[in-house]
Amino acid sequence: MPQLLLVEDDPAIRTALARALSERGHGVRTEPTGMAGLQAAVDDRPDLVVLDLGLPDVDGCVLLSMLRAVSDVPVIVATARDDERETVRALDAGADDYIVKPFAAEHLDARIRAVLRRGTAAEPTATFAVGALSVDVRARTAVLEGRPLDLTRLEFDLLAHLAARPGVVVSKKELLADVWHQPYGGADKTVDVHLSWLRRKLGESASAPRYLHSVRGVGVKLLAPP
Ligand code: CA
Repeated sequence: MPQLLLVEDDPAIRTALARALSERGHGVRTEPTGMAGLQAAVDDRPDLVVLDLGLPDVDGCVLLSMLRAVSDVPVIVATARDDERETVRALDAGADDYIVKPFAAEHLDARIRAVLRRGTAAEPTATFAVGALSVDVRARTAVLEGRPLDLTRLEFDLLAHLAARPGVVVSKKELLADVWHQPYGGADKTVDVHLSWLRRKLGESASAPRYLHSVRGVGVKLLAPP
């Protein structure tokens, strides 16, 4: 049973969510403050943390950075409103996904399952097919419409990472961590530059995307063209 840590200061939301998530087969521990949540995350090593960004004792994004310094536990942040800047700040600080309040418990449960699946996905040793694009991770070859693509090592890694998660928005932070194995510097243009090179090799552009779609302020996803 996945063990969740729910950090939420609102007692009504906390109680209702804890009950709903337990009913859906999760083990749930709750904490009402950021610092108690951080301590619990270190002590209990949960499988996933659901973190309310609006906490009384510490800014949610600051707390997330503190947590990231000691743990790589998957984190879903709950934001009070659809605030793009706050969401980007949370993703930059190391959140794996976000959900906008108010939300239904079943919606959060679906996000939790998706994030946990991502975490336990087998090492990429398979072939991924997205539309007319196929990526063979073991052979390190990519073919688009029957034509082999001439990719650099990083371009291939970038494409393979996205092809393994078709339709999923992947943040630049995640790409830097998983493809470049680098921490995110905020102003880093590395990912943008390589994405634009990859786009060119796929025969498309940011203004006329077919496979590679930027989601402004959040990240990028790979999709089969309609
Ligand atoms: Ca709150």
